[in-house]
Amino acid sequence: MEECLFCRIVRKEVPATIVYEDDAILAFKDINPVAPIHILFIPKKHISTFFAMEPGDEVLIGKLHQAAVQVAQELGLAEKGFRLVANCQRGGGQLIFHLHYHLIAGRPLLWPPG
Ligand code: 5GP
Ligand code: ZN
Repeated sequence: MEECLFCRIVRKEVPATIVYEDDAILAFKDINPVAPIHILFIPKKHISTFFAMEPGDEVLIGKLHQAAVQVAQELGLAEKGFRLVANCQRGGGQLIFHLHYHLIAGRPLLWPPG
């Protein structure tokens, strides 16, 4: 059994504010939001980084992406827009080594983010 924090959230051992769940994907509010809307989307399967993907996982990443777009639509972001971020490895800002997307919205988002 994975000791990873996000795997523990999947198993409901660690509480989280869940905003979307299906058989393969879980989404929950980030504990330290950087914007009024900051939701994390994870595959329930433990995949540490994009470099740890196994054959077939691209289907899972498609589902992950679709879940983020669906929730964005439900939150009324289709017109306003949003940012979808995946940090990869420490040099890319990744702190939790269970692959995830950040859905960030609800304030003006400039680019580059700094
Ligand atoms: P990373 O830097 O790995 O891309 O992002 C990890 C994210 O997980 C951070 O934005 C951080 O605030 C969030 N996070 C860390 N611990 C917890 C937790 O226990 N619960 C929730 N909901 N989010 C967490
Ligand atoms: Zn995990």
